[in-house]
Amino acid sequence: MSDPGGELLATPGEDSCDVLIAGAGPAGADLARRLAQAGASVLLVDSLVDLRQAAFSSAALPWAAVQEHALPDAVVAARWSSWTLLGPGSDRRSWTSATPAANAAGTAAAEESVPPLGAVLDFGALRHCLAERAEAAGAELRLGWRAVEWQPDGAQARTLLRGPAGAQRWIRSRWLVDATGQQRALLGEPDHADDPLVSGGGVEWLLQVDQAVWQIWADRLSFLLGSDWVPQGYGWVFPMAPGQLKVGVCRLDDPGRPQPPLHGLLQNVLQRLDLAQALVLDRHGGVIRSTIRRREPHQNGPLLGLGDAVSTANLLGGEGIRHALSSSAVLAPLLLQALAGRPAALRRYPRRLRRRLGWRWSLSGRLARRTWLGLDGPTADGRLRRLLAGLEAGAGAEDLSALLFDYRFERYGPRALPYLLGWR
Ligand SMILES: Cc1cc2nc3c(=O)[nH]c(=O)nc-3n(C[C@H](O)[C@H](O)[C@H](O)COP(=O)(O)OP(=O)(O)OC[C@H]3O[C@@H](n4cnc5c(N)ncnc54)[C@H](O)[C@@H]3O)c2cc1C
Repeated sequence: MSDPGGELLATPGEDSCDVLIAGAGPAGADLARRLAQAGASVLLVDSLVDLRQAAFSSAALPWAAVQEHALPDAVVAARWSSWTLLGPGSDRRSWTSATPAANAAGTAAAEESVPPLGAVLDFGALRHCLAERAEAAGAELRLGWRAVEWQPDGAQARTLLRGPAGAQRWIRSRWLVDATGQQRALLGEPDHADDPLVSGGGVEWLLQVDQAVWQIWADRLSFLLGSDWVPQGYGWVFPMAPGQLKVGVCRLDDPGRPQPPLHGLLQNVLQRLDLAQALVLDRHGGVIRSTIRRREPHQNGPLLGLGDAVSTANLLGGEGIRHALSSSAVLAPLLLQALAGRPAALRRYPRRLRRRLGWRWSLSGRLARRTWLGLDGPTADGRLRRLLAGLEAGAGAEDLSALLFDYRFERYGPRALPYLLGWR
């Protein structure tokens, strides 16, 4: 590609490429594919040695995202068409789609005619598949390599990678992309005091259960709501492949209060759901961190931020895979323009990404902060109960999806909004 940042003159011992992408999560791997397909030379690195390992994400998302990003069947572990909300206390509410999926196992013909509401992905398989697509498009993939620091060098970037057995390598690139997720390994922490990072932690176990137990949770996303389940957060049970369940808890951090260990909360959930004896196939967890208004810089010279590294993880539902993929769809054409000699195109990136995420985005973040951080006792449980009773009376499964995935709070009218915002 033409050379806006001058010729790439790598010194001996340095490698060079048009774009170095640090982090082969959904955002980084998808961007690598898009750029390589357009002819850019792309190096994609990840500190993980195997992208199928450390699959920290529950990876539930709406079906529209599966279709939009053309995710193959091989990464879809389960489909769902119902919501179940347990709590506060012993309350139980369920909503089933008017056009349910054929069934959890699904037949191809039935799935074509009645799409489900959403999917639970195998996150390790997703990362592996997206990285394979990037390689097939011509990107180079290096696993087991961590980006440890970078320096601007004229208009270009020099980045130090540390690899297996302490190996080190400097890479010179026209552009460098921080796709290292919430770690923001190269961009660093945003320093806007008026829009700080809101942070939450989650742990999840993958359980093996017998078929009868699995059927109870199949074809639905089940959430555990109320301070007696998980104060300042929520729990969940998601179906995976037949006979497997993902059970987890997530909580927003409140630095002003003692935060009991998440593992104790998960043990409590497993006891109450009669799942404590199930065989544990995998234990994983992670952190989700975003600013609410997303005003942080998306660029620092030749360094660009992507995905969770620029707060595309949504705090309300604790989900960000589809938004990470969207950030790549937004950045790729602008970065290609920059590679073709028009670096000013990148100034449009933050605005375009904000537009893509939609005007309801920061409202959903404020709602998440109020709802989850405020969920700390009987008063908050009572408020939540009133809200859920209202939804039960007037909403279907599709409406719940529209609320939690499209953030369509205004559908519930001016009377419901104050509840949603925690003002009543
Ligand atoms: C417990 C939990 C549950 C979740 N559940 C859901 C869910 O149900 N649905 C949903 O959509 N989202 C969910 N999310 C959020 C979702 O997983 C993230 O929003 C999404 O993975 C972000 O993609 P990304 O590519 O931006 O970052 P990541 O997926 O975090 O990828 C970053 C990559 O960078 C690599 N890396 C980190 N540092 C370096 C470095 N210095 N050098 C090289 N590589 C590095 C990491 O190994 C990783 O592979 C969940 C998150 C957590 C923590």
